[in-house]
Amino acid sequence: MENDFIESNISKSDKILDIPLRPNSLDEFIGQESLKKRLSIFIGAAKKRQESLGHILFSGPPGLGKTTLANIMAKTMKTNIVVTTGPVIEKPGDLAGVLTSLKQGDILFIDEIHRLNKAIEEYLYPAMEDFTLDLLIDSGPNARNVSVKLNKFTLIGATTRSGLISSPMRSRFSFNARLDYYEPESIKDIVTRSAKILNVTINDDSAMTIATRSRGTPRIANNLLKWTRDFVQMQNKHTIDIDEAKKALTLQNIDEEGLDEMDKKILNVIIDHYNGGPVGVNTIGVAVSEESTTIQEVYEPYLIMKGFLKRTPRGREVTKLGYEHMGKKYPKNFGELL
Ligand code: ADP
Repeated sequence: MENDFIESNISKSDKILDIPLRPNSLDEFIGQESLKKRLSIFIGAAKKRQESLGHILFSGPPGLGKTTLANIMAKTMKTNIVVTTGPVIEKPGDLAGVLTSLKQGDILFIDEIHRLNKAIEEYLYPAMEDFTLDLLIDSGPNARNVSVKLNKFTLIGATTRSGLISSPMRSRFSFNARLDYYEPESIKDIVTRSAKILNVTINDDSAMTIATRSRGTPRIANNLLKWTRDFVQMQNKHTIDIDEAKKALTLQNIDEEGLDEMDKKILNVIIDHYNGGPVGVNTIGVAVSEESTTIQEVYEPYLIMKGFLKRTPRGREVTKLGYEHMGKKYPKNFGELL
């Protein structure tokens, strides 16, 4: 099955490395219960009708399981999956190459679909709706339209920025799902499952300690588990107990709310340099030497979910809770009430 992957983005190499930890079926996929229920109805109905799946859009922060679900869909439907990402498809010819290679029922997974350029999006609409590709060949007086019939395929799009998906694009997906951060209990179960696969013993308390510091994200939980495993193995131990787990996590500078160094840097910069905000995300990016898109996609959603940061029309503001978490006095008397 792994041979079916066409990984077209090198930055995703970590994803290839952690394939053994990836759940292979909806039963193995932990958490996101209501989404799983909806998906199994969607798949069950398509199978009953012996049709290919309708197009699916998964949105949500990185590391929550969008790629995993796309692969599970392919395994469940017993179809081939072709994987690519939005920015890789630059020209209509690139898209034509991918689409014409798809066989009946194949799944095309486009990660970061919000980064597809608008011209490509226009070509994708008829492909999604009528399974035809209308290509403009040549230019000037010789220009002509050629319509290519495609095999019926399923497009699965994944995005960390659902707000950037245009509404014509969104409306062409028959199944639209948002993945939310996981509850600590579910992350604990994921850590316990991964520990079994990695052949390391972990008790409930230690798994929960890792879970509460994983910002509700399975990928982070797996990475912290691997780090903790390395930490104990360097001491010739094979069991992760609570003390070792805490020591290992402290070394990574992750606090008990799951905030890492960059999260804390962002809060501190806004508090110390901009009086707690409001301040624009681009300015924050320059101040902490991080891409503003990364701040928006990776850091900000968790800080907002935790109630440490809020988004206002004039920029980002640290909340009273955020000040308190950073051990600083909140200077605004009425700010939280407004
Ligand atoms: P995304 O595509 O949303 O960035 P991935 O699907 O690549 O996230 O998930 C990251 C990793 O986290 C996967 O390789 C898998 O090991 C693990 N993972 C994600 N969701 C789950 C889950 N619900 N149960 C168990 N492991 C999961």
